[in-house]
Amino acid sequence: MTPRLLFAASEESWHEYEGHLIHSLAAAGIEAELSPQAGPPETVDYIVYAPNSTVQDFTPYTRLKAVLSLWAGVEHVVGNPTLRVPLARMVDSGLTEGMVEWVTGHTLRHHLNIDHVLAHQDGEWNRHVPPLARHRPVTILGLGALGAACAQALANLGFPVTGWSRTRRKVEGVTCLSGPAGLEQALARAQILILLLPLTPGTEDLLHAAHIDQLPKGAVILNPGRGQLIDDAALLAALDSGHVGHATLDVFRTEPLPRDHPYWAHPRVTVTPHIASETRPDTASEVIVENVRRGEAGEPFLHLVDRARGY
Ligand code: NDP
Repeated sequence: MTPRLLFAASEESWHEYEGHLIHSLAAAGIEAELSPQAGPPETVDYIVYAPNSTVQDFTPYTRLKAVLSLWAGVEHVVGNPTLRVPLARMVDSGLTEGMVEWVTGHTLRHHLNIDHVLAHQDGEWNRHVPPLARHRPVTILGLGALGAACAQALANLGFPVTGWSRTRRKVEGVTCLSGPAGLEQALARAQILILLLPLTPGTEDLLHAAHIDQLPKGAVILNPGRGQLIDDAALLAALDSGHVGHATLDVFRTEPLPRDHPYWAHPRVTVTPHIASETRPDTASEVIVENVRRGEAGEPFLHLVDRARGY
């Protein structure tokens, strides 16, 4: 029977994805019905899903084989009690490329002190030679699809990179740590700290006051992970005291970041509006279609979320 795919995301996304999904289905030789219209839920085999979609109750989808998320972060859907079929998150080469570019760019901005250079175009020949990357230890919390790729890119530029994750990972050229003692070491050496953890009960507020205190004085924080990873009050206090030299934040507890939020006006904070990276329709469609192919062939799905772990 021809599988039926419901595209449950915004209308704008449908316009971006429709052509790519049709193309990828054809390239994989899969005949499928693809539609953004709900139709009878009991006829749907797969839901291509954005967690902010209007579909929040999966109970009526009695034939459903899998929910295929367009987003890497699944905190809005992972705990949904009506979801009883496999949930795959998005691991997309385009998304990874974008994150590597954002992280590398913002790391180099701070490493080379580009803000200082721009602020001193005043005719004075003040030579401040920046250190080499190999003298600037960087730590990445989270060594998953995105964290590992960023760690490797920064290591390739010469930065001594330490990565920390729940289980001990192996990433070439990167010192990989895990556990509470590993976190302590990872924080203590982080002149630049990058957060690429998912939001789960185990990671919420991970960067609290005591952990911020463990950073070297003047450390820079980049957060393209999730806003809830950071205790905002503790970070603001550390920025005010100068213990944290700068924070470049892409994600926030409330998005859009409210206009009166202290981050906007803080001289040591750069706000970017959740643009560190995005799923790219061309490459992501191939990932979605590969999972449909696997579902139809009875093969295991790629990138399955572990509900108990929350990511
Ligand atoms: P992955 O699931 O591939 O990796 C998550 C990493 O975090 C893994 O290394 C995992 O450890 C580690 N981790 C999870 N929980 C803990 C814990 N309690 N303690 C220590 N380590 C932990 O995720 P991705 O790399 O694909 O994405 C990471 C996050 O990036 C997403 O969840 C999302 O929030 C964010 N994101 C932000 C975007 C933006 O534009 N700002 C775009 C896309 C994603 P282990 O390896 O042992 O499993």
